[in-house]
Amino acid sequence: MARHVLSSTTLKRLEQPAPFWIDGKPVRSGRTVSLCNPATGQSFAECHVSTGHDVDQAVAAARAAFVNPDWAGMNAAVRARILWRLAELIDAHAIELAELETLCMGKPIAAAMRMEVPFFAETFRYFAGWCTKISGMSAPLSFPAGDLHGLTLQEPVGVVGMILPWNGPLVIAGWKIAPALATGCTCVIKPAETTPLSLLRFAELAAQAGVPDGVINIVTGSGSEVGSAISRHPGVDKLAFTGSTGTGRALLQDAAASNLKKLSLELGGKSPVLVFDDADLDAAVDGAVDAIFGNSGQVCVAGSRLYLHKSIRDDFVARLTEKANALRIGDPMDEKTQLGPIASQAHLDAIHRRVEEGVAGGAVLLCGGRQADSPGSYYPPTILDVADQSNVLVQDEIFGPVLCVATFESEEEAIALANGTRYGLAASVWTSQIDRAFRVSRAVQCGVFWVNTHNIPDLGTPIGGYGQSGWGRELGHLGLSEYLQSKSVMFKISPAPMSAGRLQ
Ligand code: ADP
Repeated sequence: MARHVLSSTTLKRLEQPAPFWIDGKPVRSGRTVSLCNPATGQSFAECHVSTGHDVDQAVAAARAAFVNPDWAGMNAAVRARILWRLAELIDAHAIELAELETLCMGKPIAAAMRMEVPFFAETFRYFAGWCTKISGMSAPLSFPAGDLHGLTLQEPVGVVGMILPWNGPLVIAGWKIAPALATGCTCVIKPAETTPLSLLRFAELAAQAGVPDGVINIVTGSGSEVGSAISRHPGVDKLAFTGSTGTGRALLQDAAASNLKKLSLELGGKSPVLVFDDADLDAAVDGAVDAIFGNSGQVCVAGSRLYLHKSIRDDFVARLTEKANALRIGDPMDEKTQLGPIASQAHLDAIHRRVEEGVAGGAVLLCGGRQADSPGSYYPPTILDVADQSNVLVQDEIFGPVLCVATFESEEEAIALANGTRYGLAASVWTSQIDRAFRVSRAVQCGVFWVNTHNIPDLGTPIGGYGQSGWGRELGHLGLSEYLQSKSVMFKISPAPMSAGRLQ
């Protein structure tokens, strides 16, 4: 077994409670919480916790930085170089960042090293490219208005509050911070209570890369105290959120009750995986396993509903359960581990309660379904037959390694099943027929659709939800535009003197 040994840098970092970060400086409030390693159930570090007053300080620093010529007047090409340098620094400190990620949330170290951290770095490179390409247009006038000329300017939206989840602490932060920096916004960021350490280390790297003081501020603490201090703050112009649909609703109310701040919301999902009888079944079995069990199912686009053509059901399910049972579950610091622990004991308990509720409602367990009898919050890959589409396991996001399976007989039925929840984040179809793939991709209501693959995000293609899966998009040019506002400028131009413009 190749067990990853923590670097001396990380061990040293964990000796002292981690400070939060305001105006380019570490801040120690004196009030600390201990962070629990979900692999052991033991506390492994402490973190200083912010207050509402710290949020005020962070917003004031972000506002001052937003109008400071050092940032507001920075040439776009210089900003691009800072983002690129930041990406290089993330790569150079990949081990430290991955270790902090694994300690806080239990993500297997191999996945943190090979996917999470490189993808985080690449996000800054992608948005570095946009800095010099943000432009409005010269607008032709549609109303006969005499000597008028119109143009549009694309301006940064201002101070952006970012409220983050625990399942991809760096990646999901990058989807918000990188476009915010590319457009010239400033940030007040709250990581999830349990996963602040990697982002706090990132703040130091940002300063090292040349991000001016006050552009990135990170406050720590609970959603009810620190998160809502951000969402209610009159000095925050926009809120970018990833998390549960329930919290998204609360943020909407906070925005309405304060300053009508703009919102982008990436909320829950219940993404279907549709497998037709003409699909490459080997690839589809592997794809269905990856779609739900990657990151222990704690992924917003996880393929948590599997719909199989009736004729392939028995063979497919036999292969699926065999593969699921063979996944290596265990210590996330073991480089061969495929499934780490669930991110917290509280979340594990919530997952198990939902499975029990689903079984009581008629779902039939095919594998998994019980908590491991060991320290640490482990839950095995769990697959259930769920014919009744009103079952809680079909309708509610579980956010864990829990897959429900049902069958269909026609393309129309498959589409109706796929569209049968209030969510609309992602979906995939597995088929060898291009016509069918095209038809189904048009008919399924979701923001991201994959053909013969699942959960492959790309920096150039926007991610976001239909239905109750959210508002707005992240990544790609649409993700950039969430951080911009358009200003139309109309010039009245005096008639030119007769000689103007003529060759003398
Ligand atoms: P989960 O239940 O998976 O933790 P949440 O939506 O509750 O998902 O949490 C996502 C983020 O939202 C976390 O950073 C959390 O602290 C924050 N949060 C939770 N409740 C609120 C709230 N009422 N106001 C602002 N932020 C909140």
